[in-house]
Amino acid sequence: MSGTMEDRLAKIFSQTTEAERAEIDRAASFIRAGRLVAIPTETVYGLGANALDAEAVKSIYEAKGRPSDNPLILHVCSMEMADSVVKLNDRARFLMEKFWPGPLSMVLFARGVVPLRTRGGLETAAIRMPDNRLTLELIRASGVPIAAPSANISGRPSPTDAQTVRDDVGGKIAAILDGGECRVGVESTVIDLTGDKVVLLRPGGLAKEDIEAALGLTVALPQDGSNIIKRSPGTRYRHYAPVIPLFVAEQATEELIKGRKWAWMGMSEPPGSPVAKIIFASQSKYARELFRAMRTLEKSGAELIIAEKTDSSRIGRAIMERLTRASGI
Ligand code: AMP
Ligand code: MG
Repeated sequence: MSGTMEDRLAKIFSQTTEAERAEIDRAASFIRAGRLVAIPTETVYGLGANALDAEAVKSIYEAKGRPSDNPLILHVCSMEMADSVVKLNDRARFLMEKFWPGPLSMVLFARGVVPLRTRGGLETAAIRMPDNRLTLELIRASGVPIAAPSANISGRPSPTDAQTVRDDVGGKIAAILDGGECRVGVESTVIDLTGDKVVLLRPGGLAKEDIEAALGLTVALPQDGSNIIKRSPGTRYRHYAPVIPLFVAEQATEELIKGRKWAWMGMSEPPGSPVAKIIFASQSKYARELFRAMRTLEKSGAELIIAEKTDSSRIGRAIMERLTRASGI
């Protein structure tokens, strides 16, 4: 990315129109009143509330049916706001300058102003600056960080457009900022910056390889049997799942299909005749359209979905993680 983080933000903020300003001010008054506002981001839509208000945050968990030990990411609009909620270190500042606003969440030691409810009882909190003008403006107008998980009912595929948010949680929110379709389509990359090693807690929209190139070091993968579950509680739950079974495979085989009606998604054409198929022209489109494809195919009349395996480098790592967890393996 070019320029400093400040330059990038100034450019983004200069584009807001009067009409948008009125909508943002209205949504900001809801945030300050402790209500829920659905927010667009470059990754997926979020279900936002004042991160510093434990009661408001409680209503996020209730609206989603989210387990209370799965902590939320705090969305900020400036370095100062980040500094007010977590203890920044040099590595964090460097990565912010390099990648914010963008799909990178960093886990750092929390300051006392962050309610335990927001951080799922942990001593750490995750922060990120989303790359979406309306949401950055909303955070700025609210004057507080906004805690936001994805705006779906817990366990369902994440929403990447405003209509899907309405379908899932429409009755439970005060407003939706409609920012169109999400550009990245999978959630942010989450890294732990509290220790000597940088640890990847969740692959996401920013490639691990890009973080490694910037830092000049290897980002560690959580080892089996380590305390990863304690450190990133969200990774323990089945997630992102369509209502019919989903299998991740290289090919649609008879063994998998067993005479049932099947749907296909992937980058290549399937052999045989699925009742529905979605072909992605590139890996970034696979990521962008993954969750919508799950919701479309579960309604296609198929009894199962076969999702084509993809190379798990760069954005592929996030795609494969979402598919694996959707398949319940
Ligand atoms: P979501 O809100 O669905 O995007 O999920 C947020 C992800 O960030 C989950 O996997 C959480 O477990 C993880 N996360 C948030 N805060 C922390 C934290 N303080 N420590 C470790 N992981 C976190
Ligand atoms: Mg989620």
